[in-house]
Amino acid sequence: MDKQNIMPDTIANLEQVKQKNSANIYKVIEQYKPISRVEIAKISNLAPASVTKITRQLMESGLITEVELQVSTGGRRAISLAPNSDNINIIAIKLGQNLLSIAHYNLSGDKGLNKQITIPKKESCEMLTDFLIGEIAKFITQPTLINEKISAISLTISGLVNPKQGVVISTPTYPFDHFPLANEIEKAFNIPTFIGNHTRCLALAENYFGATKHCQDSILISVHHGVGSGVIIDNKVLLGKNCNIGEIGHIQANPLGKACYCGNIGCLETEVSDTAILNKVKEAISAGKKSAIESDNLNINAIYLAAANGDQLCQSITEQAANYLGKSIAILVNLLNPEKIILAGKIITAGDIFFDTVKAYIKSQTLPDFNNKLEVIGSELSSDITIAAFALIKQAIYEGNLLQRIKV
Ligand SMILES: [Zn+2]
Repeated sequence: MDKQNIMPDTIANLEQVKQKNSANIYKVIEQYKPISRVEIAKISNLAPASVTKITRQLMESGLITEVELQVSTGGRRAISLAPNSDNINIIAIKLGQNLLSIAHYNLSGDKGLNKQITIPKKESCEMLTDFLIGEIAKFITQPTLINEKISAISLTISGLVNPKQGVVISTPTYPFDHFPLANEIEKAFNIPTFIGNHTRCLALAENYFGATKHCQDSILISVHHGVGSGVIIDNKVLLGKNCNIGEIGHIQANPLGKACYCGNIGCLETEVSDTAILNKVKEAISAGKKSAIESDNLNINAIYLAAANGDQLCQSITEQAANYLGKSIAILVNLLNPEKIILAGKIITAGDIFFDTVKAYIKSQTLPDFNNKLEVIGSELSSDITIAAFALIKQAIYEGNLLQRIKV
């Protein structure tokens, strides 16, 4: 028999139970605020003594607060509890292809100061990390933030990430190679730091606050410089042992397509990303194809707008992209049977021509029982670039590992 089964790591298990119970109580308080300890015990199915102990710890670290006195029917007074979210500050960051976005939120989700900075070319990940740390330092020492305690920092990035270890495995844009980015930031500021893949964190954000809030299983597909997805099953983002599930960008869409940096030919990413679409329209116009958009005003927003307004060239290229995407999404639907598909990225501004094509493909290539109930809709949150990183902090709170580390 496995040694681990005979002698379980009792201390680690107890710690996990403690974290889980704290997180459950915090979630109950957040959902039912203001709520008495008696009610918390009823809803969470925990013993009143445990509730008293855990809520005392949560109060000591400043995560919850006593808010008011309720007069019960018997005339006895019960003290209610509520999250102290407005007073907990976090910094949410998106490290984009050329742009660094930094924002301040409180834990209630109110966004405060935010800033976007163009990223100058950096030769090494150490140089990029120094730049990043320098910009975070400037941001948190601004007059409105300098006196605030920052409880956590989170950062999202495109590419392969191990959020459990805080490591960037690789990205198409930057020279990270299994680089402990979260640890470097945490060391610089002595603030708990989390990192995650941007698309998977956006899927999580939609699940907490957006289009999939009341839905258990969903898949978000994001089309930007690349193509990625985030799979939510049972209200949790799928990560697995290797931490990266949903890299649909390297599914082959066109065997006769262009070479991808991954070594494959005609990947979804080389066929339908914003860059691919922009290049296809440029090439078609250079080859003499007619379009209403001026060749000196060629950008991705103009292309999708022209497609929405009936420009034939832009429509046919967008439609082809939607075909490729629809085919890959159909595979995901057959595999995972989600309740909703969320599409994110500028491509959704092409409107019906895009959505109708994707939906038609899904309908023709998936089980009727799956597609009859499936909703295919646009992202509600992708315009807020840092909301994905904010969701990562919420996840850390709900899973308990940040709850233990916050001191307000
Ligand atoms: Zn590829």
